[in-house]
Amino acid sequence: MHVLITGGCGFIGSHLTDHCLAAGWKVTALDDLSTGSLQNVVHLAGHPNFRLVAEGTTSAGVVDELAGSCDFIFHLAAVVGVRLVVNRSVHSIENNLQGTEIVLRAAAHHRKPVLITSTSEVYGKSVDLPYREDADLLIGPPTCARWSYACGKALDEFLALGYWREQKLPVIVVRLFNTVGPRQSGEYGMVIPNFIRQALAGQPITVFGSGRQRRCFGYVGDVVKAIKALSQTPAAFGEIVNIGGTSEISIAELAQLVKHAAGSAAAIEYIPYHDAYGPSFQDMHRRVPAVDKLKRLIGFCPETPLESILFETIDWMRAVQQEPARSGLRAAAHVA
Ligand code: UDP
Repeated sequence: MHVLITGGCGFIGSHLTDHCLAAGWKVTALDDLSTGSLQNVVHLAGHPNFRLVAEGTTSAGVVDELAGSCDFIFHLAAVVGVRLVVNRSVHSIENNLQGTEIVLRAAAHHRKPVLITSTSEVYGKSVDLPYREDADLLIGPPTCARWSYACGKALDEFLALGYWREQKLPVIVVRLFNTVGPRQSGEYGMVIPNFIRQALAGQPITVFGSGRQRRCFGYVGDVVKAIKALSQTPAAFGEIVNIGGTSEISIAELAQLVKHAAGSAAAIEYIPYHDAYGPSFQDMHRRVPAVDKLKRLIGFCPETPLESILFETIDWMRAVQQEPARSGLRAAAHVA
């Protein structure tokens, strides 16, 4: 089995790469190293079954050639993170729409099965919980830049399912909920790496809004296991499938938990949304996935407890902070 993983050096993509290699599969990672990082795959330097192509998914010729030489395509490459989507809307909209269009066209050209990663953001502000895959979407107005990500991903879904219906292209759409674990960067706004970084540095842990908003966090190791299992499940073709944890926690409680797990004396500070993300920002109060479809298809869903995810991620971040110079050197050697 030879798979193409777009975004293979990203947070989730690099874990999927590891998981596929561990199964004895061959992996070609396509990544423009923008939000992805060489450090996420530096341990794979010299691996006989791993190849990195440092290009973006908008390079149509490259994508077409790689699609022609693999057996399955996992499309994970995207501009992600609320902060990045809000601050660089044009770049994120263009890149995400064009990238998926090109990947799907290449998959159709070579008749290769493809899994498209979408997002729980598409459920928007819906309060019809838990979110079921066939539910209506309630996305906010275009004056609020955050919703561009949801709209773009929803359009990706329409396009993928159009290929399935019109050309019988085997496609799977997965909606990833808040996925967390080692290698996640806090740079683009994600809450857990930011809270951990702040807790370890003894800086105030910044809770946005009231802190009463709730999320379910899924362990990245469980999520990539589910993604790979779905790729081997013919009944998943033509389907949209949620992947996420189901245990809810408020962001204020999360701040306490991180502080405790990191053994930190950091204060917890509440910041209004408009100070964090600018005016006209909207957040959703709760986000919970329905996972019956996922369980029916592959027999499991992400269940690793949040405490163990936090301990593992804290250990990882401590290790990274201790040897930034050495890992930078290894990354440079890998490129050469
Ligand atoms: N958040 C926070 N402090 C931070 C980063 C995020 O309180 O430093 C909040 C954010 O406003 C949201 C929740 O944590 O309510 C989860 O944010 P994230 O960006 O990780 O994911 P989202 O669920 O918003 O896609």
